[in-house]
Amino acid sequence: MNVYDGQRIAAMLAAREMTETDDVSDADIIILNTCAVRAKATDKVFSALGRIRRAKKPDALFGIVGCVAREAGADAFRRIPELNFVLGPQSYHKLPALLENPDSKLLNIDLGGLEKFDEMPRMSVSPAVAYIPIQEGCNHCCTYCIVPYTRGREISRPYADVVRDCVHAAETGAIEICFLGQNVNGYQYTDDEGHAFRLSDLIRAAAPLPGVRRIRFTSSYPTEMTDDLIDMFRTEPKLLPFLNMPIQSGSPNVLTRMNRPYELNLYIDIIDKLRRARPDIQISSDFIVGFPGETDADFEQTMEIAKRIKYINSYSFKYSPRPHTAAAVMPDQIQETVKATRLAKLDAALNEIQREFNESCINREMDCLCEGPDKTGRHLVYRTPYMQQCIVAAAPHAPAIARIRITAANKASLRGEFVG
Ligand code: SF4
Repeated sequence: MNVYDGQRIAAMLAAREMTETDDVSDADIIILNTCAVRAKATDKVFSALGRIRRAKKPDALFGIVGCVAREAGADAFRRIPELNFVLGPQSYHKLPALLENPDSKLLNIDLGGLEKFDEMPRMSVSPAVAYIPIQEGCNHCCTYCIVPYTRGREISRPYADVVRDCVHAAETGAIEICFLGQNVNGYQYTDDEGHAFRLSDLIRAAAPLPGVRRIRFTSSYPTEMTDDLIDMFRTEPKLLPFLNMPIQSGSPNVLTRMNRPYELNLYIDIIDKLRRARPDIQISSDFIVGFPGETDADFEQTMEIAKRIKYINSYSFKYSPRPHTAAAVMPDQIQETVKATRLAKLDAALNEIQREFNESCINREMDCLCEGPDKTGRHLVYRTPYMQQCIVAAAPHAPAIARIRITAANKASLRGEFVG
């Protein structure tokens, strides 16, 4: 979602004839697009702002947008008085008001619903991967999560608007469409004539568009994985065989305290259904270790589920208390040293599963999407259908989608060569 927001902000400034620079000391405006999901990310924002304050031109405008802006609000101006703007994740389309009046301070952390989608300019040329938000916010209220506070209650965009964005993306060069939402599979929209639409309808609408070769969506909540959506993995070959469906913990006790009220058996049943619908599907997850009250036995249940499902690519973190969340004030907070030990153990197991899967891909041929050259310029970076990074020797006129034979693998990435 932040990549999407960043692209839209860049398009908005490009429409005002501004160009990007990597050099902070040369910039006329500096925008930190921020994530508040973990405490460490928030801390990094304020240390980065301190560095920018010293490095920027005296008259350059600078500020923060996104979830840290919403979380910090006016307090951000107290911490960094030179800041020019603080705009929440649903307000960054207000930035032009500051450009018109650069001597003012701009604070807007309202939860404005869908207004930003209507007001932001479209990309004139879409990148190969078009991120298309379909809903924003979340109603699940997991007890550790700040998203319902920073992004608000769940709201789905009108079906016709999303389809219009897909058509525009396809017409302007998108090869992959990635539907986005904090709770993307909870998408539901009913139009004025009473027609109800779900994510499966959006996939069905996007798949036939000329030039679109791959479709994916992120991030999914287990109990919203309805049968119509699971069936899309059977019937729609453009839907990639890869799904991020976070479980967070393998302990029923911890899941209850997280306010993620699904049975483990239900989660496993959904995975089984997905694998019956698409035998080659692979799953990734997010994990939180050291949630308040997590015992050694709870943690071992997380280790068991990770090995049972064989998540090929996961994000695991130590629990960090976030403001405005119920878990932050729960008793039995876990010591940092215990969290660190558990995280290291889980990471080791997840890395091993990932390395095994990557190695199992050697000698397979896959259609991969080019992301561009690596830093050396001697290689091209492609993404497999499982979103693995695959490095290929650079070649003139390399296609955007290429058939690649995997020749080597390690935990982090694959190597490959063009077929034919
Ligand atoms: S489902 Fe995801 S976004 Fe929603 S509250 Fe839970 S962790 Fe946060």
